[in-house]
This record gives sequence, C-alpha cells and structure tokens, in this order.
Amino acid sequence: MPTTYQLYIHLRRPCRIQAGRLPAARLPAGWYVYTGSARQNLAARVERHLRRDKPLRWHVDWLLTRREARVVHVVLSQEPECRANARVGGEVPVPGFGASDCRAGCGSHLRYLGPERPEAVPEAALQRRQPGLQALRAALEGG
Ligand SMILES: [Zn+2]
Repeated sequence: MPTTYQLYIHLRRPCRIQAGRLPAARLPAGWYVYTGSARQNLAARVERHLRRDKPLRWHVDWLLTRREARVVHVVLSQEPECRANARVGGEVPVPGFGASDCRAGCGSHLRYLGPERPEAVPEAALQRRQPGLQALRAALEGG
C-alpha cells in the first residue's frame, strides 16, 4: 500500500500566498510538487487536496484553494515521504512550507520546478477536466 503522495501543481499566474503562520511569499507561475504522506486513508487525503471548497488546515490548502492553482498529476508510492521529496529537486519557494512535522531537514515539502511541464506529468493530463482525480484513480488501480 502506498503511503506517500506527490501532487504536481500548475500555477498559471504568480500568486502571493500567506499560509498558516508562515510569512507571506510570492510564488512564481509554473510547476510545483507537493509531497505528503498518510498512513491511513491515503485516497481520502488526496481527494481532499483536490477539492477547492474546504477549511484551511495544511499549508498546501492555502495554495490549492486558489483558482490559479490546479493539481494536474498525482503520483503515489511507498517511498518514505522525505526521500521522495528530496528526489524531486527543484527550489524551495517558501521555507518551512508543509514541513512542520519534517525531521529530515527537507526545508519544504513544496518544491518549485520552473515554467516547463515536468517529464512526470503526461501531456494528455493538461487536457483533462479533473486530471488529479483521474491520476489518483489510475494510481490506485495500478496497485
Ligand atoms: Zn521532509
């Protein structure tokens, strides 16, 4: 059973975000990966991330409730969360974002990959109406 999820997020315009108690930050337009984990109810957690209408709880909620942001792809794995996050590379756009419980020194569980579509995101996903939900279902069916 996978316990780690990675959300590939496209931000179509730059946004100013002030998440939780973090200082406000300006996020450039482009592609982001958010890495999280859930030992139970992984699918429900990811589905919550895909909904826009919800109370703001996790740092990433402040990003994903923005109209400019869209989850285009979802990857599930059994890899430990922080290792999966480190493998993504990219830049830390907001120090501490999503990393309140992180003990591995990731700096942030949100990474900025730049303006180009990452290889991990299928080109066809961009045309889908609910690409995040479709990717989640495919990942769950695939094992
Ligand atoms: Zn970490």
